[in-house]
Amino acid sequence: MSRVVVVGAGVVGLSCAVRLLEAGRRVDVVARDLPLETTSAVAAAFWYPYRAAPHDKVAAWGSRTRAVLEEIAAGADGERAGVVLRDGTEVLPRVSPDPWWASAVPDLRRVEPPRGYADAWSFVSPVVEMPRYLPWLAARVESLGGTITRMNLSALPPGGDVVVNATGIGSRHLASDPEVHPVRGQVVVVEQVGLERWWVADDGPLPTYVVPRSRDIVLGGTADEGDWSRTPVEETAASILRRTAELEPALAGARVLRHKVGLRPARPSVRVERRGRVVHCYGHGGAGVTVSWGCADEVASLAAEVLDD
Ligand SMILES: Cc1cc2nc3c(=O)[nH]c(=O)nc-3n(C[C@H](O)[C@H](O)[C@H](O)COP(=O)(O)OP(=O)(O)OC[C@H]3O[C@@H](n4cnc5c(N)ncnc54)[C@H](O)[C@@H]3O)c2cc1C
Repeated sequence: MSRVVVVGAGVVGLSCAVRLLEAGRRVDVVARDLPLETTSAVAAAFWYPYRAAPHDKVAAWGSRTRAVLEEIAAGADGERAGVVLRDGTEVLPRVSPDPWWASAVPDLRRVEPPRGYADAWSFVSPVVEMPRYLPWLAARVESLGGTITRMNLSALPPGGDVVVNATGIGSRHLASDPEVHPVRGQVVVVEQVGLERWWVADDGPLPTYVVPRSRDIVLGGTADEGDWSRTPVEETAASILRRTAELEPALAGARVLRHKVGLRPARPSVRVERRGRVVHCYGHGGAGVTVSWGCADEVASLAAEVLDD
């Protein structure tokens, strides 16, 4: 049986591992950080294409991923996987054309903007609770016969018929790619106060979003280009709480549970590409969850070019 080594145990590496196992490959995942320690674990995480290019590919990968997440949400495992479909609204300061990813969202509809905004649209988006979804994905890898091992690598491993590089920001080193860089995101996690709808305000440089989960709510955010710090900043948290309470007044006074920071692996364009026996899949910016299954399908096809030759 052909053997694939997947480097990286974030949402991208685990989704690739599942697709490769389903295609009948033997798969070993190795990673410095285990699933709940990755950037993926910090993600809000709802289906929304943010800071990822090229737009045509991201829309196509996103569309495929939406379909898979909808299936998971509707299936018997939906609750255990932590995937829930939620309606929500994006508000905009100016009257705007449809977003570039509209083709992936058939139910996108214009709605009356709230006071202070000029435009708004609503759609149903899969909300993915990463603290449940990542362990569920990891369990899927293991139940299909794959392994997940902690290993800090200084280079992509020589073993395996194919190596999948899903190391996110680690590709700066492992793929010698200076184009990958961090876009720091800080979030505040607060208690659930009875919210079901998500909100996004596209107000300029600071993304503001409210993502309700079953037991808590993720509030964001920031997009600090080139910033490597994973330490939460108090003033930033205060700004997030203020901005999100303006968007959704029910959040005023909600009890803060946690502060988190993650480094989005940004790149001018997502790299899904085969170079010999290495298949690269990294640079998903703020949309790794949003495009995960679409990219995993493509990685499995690229691996097949080598393994089925
Ligand atoms: C605050 C915030 C909010 C976000 N919200 C959303 C959202 O709502 N929707 C969405 O789609 N996306 C969102 N994102 C983006 C999303 O989190 C990322 O795009 C995604 O997590 C990237 O996944 P990944 O698997 O490529 O990388 P990671 O999750 O970073 O995983 C990389 C893996 O590679 C391993 N690795 C790296 N270097 C090495 C090495 N040298 N040796 C061995 N292993 C190594 C790591 O240990 C890790 O296991 C958000 C991000 C942040 C920070």
